[in-house]
Amino acid sequence: MKDQVDFAEHLLLKTYNRYQVVFDHGDGIKLYDTEGNEYLDFFAGIAVQGLGYNYKGLNKALKEQADKLWHISNYFYNEPVIVAGQKLLEISDMEKVFFTNSGTEAIEGAVKIAKKYGTKTGGRYEIIAMEGSFHGRSLGALSVTGNEHYREDFYPLIPGIKFAKYNDLESVKNLVTDKTCAIILETIQGEGGIHPATKEFLEGIKKLTDEKDLILILDEIQCGMGRSGNFFAWQEYGIKPDVMTVAKALGNGVPIGAFLTAGKASDVLKPGDHGSTYGGNPLVCAVASKVLDIFKEDSIIENVRVVGKYLREKLDELARSYQSINEVRGKGLLLGVEFDKPVADIIKSALTDERLVLINAGSNVLRFIPPLIISKSDVDDALCRLKRVLEKI
Ligand SMILES: *Cc1c(COP(=O)(O)O)cnc(C)c1O
Repeated sequence: MKDQVDFAEHLLLKTYNRYQVVFDHGDGIKLYDTEGNEYLDFFAGIAVQGLGYNYKGLNKALKEQADKLWHISNYFYNEPVIVAGQKLLEISDMEKVFFTNSGTEAIEGAVKIAKKYGTKTGGRYEIIAMEGSFHGRSLGALSVTGNEHYREDFYPLIPGIKFAKYNDLESVKNLVTDKTCAIILETIQGEGGIHPATKEFLEGIKKLTDEKDLILILDEIQCGMGRSGNFFAWQEYGIKPDVMTVAKALGNGVPIGAFLTAGKASDVLKPGDHGSTYGGNPLVCAVASKVLDIFKEDSIIENVRVVGKYLREKLDELARSYQSINEVRGKGLLLGVEFDKPVADIIKSALTDERLVLINAGSNVLRFIPPLIISKSDVDDALCRLKRVLEKI
């Protein structure tokens, strides 16, 4: 494995500080490296593997579609895109969908709707985004991402983007001008440290976007697809966006994302305004379609609620016995444990000494985003491994 890592370091552009592991395959919620070591996965490919690995029927759906048709351009229809689209609209109560290849591209589409809506309603172009947000790394998505660390070397970005304080309605209101066309936020901030929106904040934002005729974009790329304990996190708040973005767990690992529209956002984009060669191709849509079936048939969200609650209790217990833990936050199986110091050492030791795969969210927050199919005993197993790491560090 060491040789492979050295070779990889040589040839892959160094945009990540990678852990020194080469993974080979997965099964359920277990991962295996090329030397056959078994790992417990509480990382899920950054909240992508909602159904874990090798989930019953899912590989078959991919293989069957692989033998039929992989790709056909958006100048034609294909059956999987129709079926997947219909299922996605049904669970979200949205009206229209555009499929993309990633979350970032879903954000690009959402921002383009906002910009065009602004253009058509009096030359408005300003967008209010949130400090601490993450929406992706392309220039458009980066423009609405509120993290200076990612932005600083890439100015000038899209003009007219302003950043408000998350969960501070006044700070949003203060930024609204007659040029504002949209507000974009994550319903639960993920990369920024696992911060759920408060009910008052989201209700206030909704009221503001209605009053000022703004497009409300909710980014559900990480917190959506069941992770919060609802199909989409906004459903718990009863706040429906004009545009919603999804990706990550939608394809369980095949590259797919989408932006969905409702009401006034649904007839903004016209032929020629937006496109994608691969977006909505039959191969990925067949998988997403099967993912959506499995969510229903196997009561995945019910499991998130039950096991999420259990994990939360266990993490709260942990917080009571470790001085270095400040707070436990989140919803469902999107939980963060904030320490009073960086968690990099914990993550590294968990991976190498305990074979527990974890991830951070910002420097001091340990993020728990396991496959949505974990059981209570998997939680016990993970906590047991984690405690041994904490004892050591
Ligand atoms: C991961 C993520 C993105 C970017 O998605 P990609 O598929 O990596 O392009 C955007 N927004 C949020 C909230 C995310 O977690």
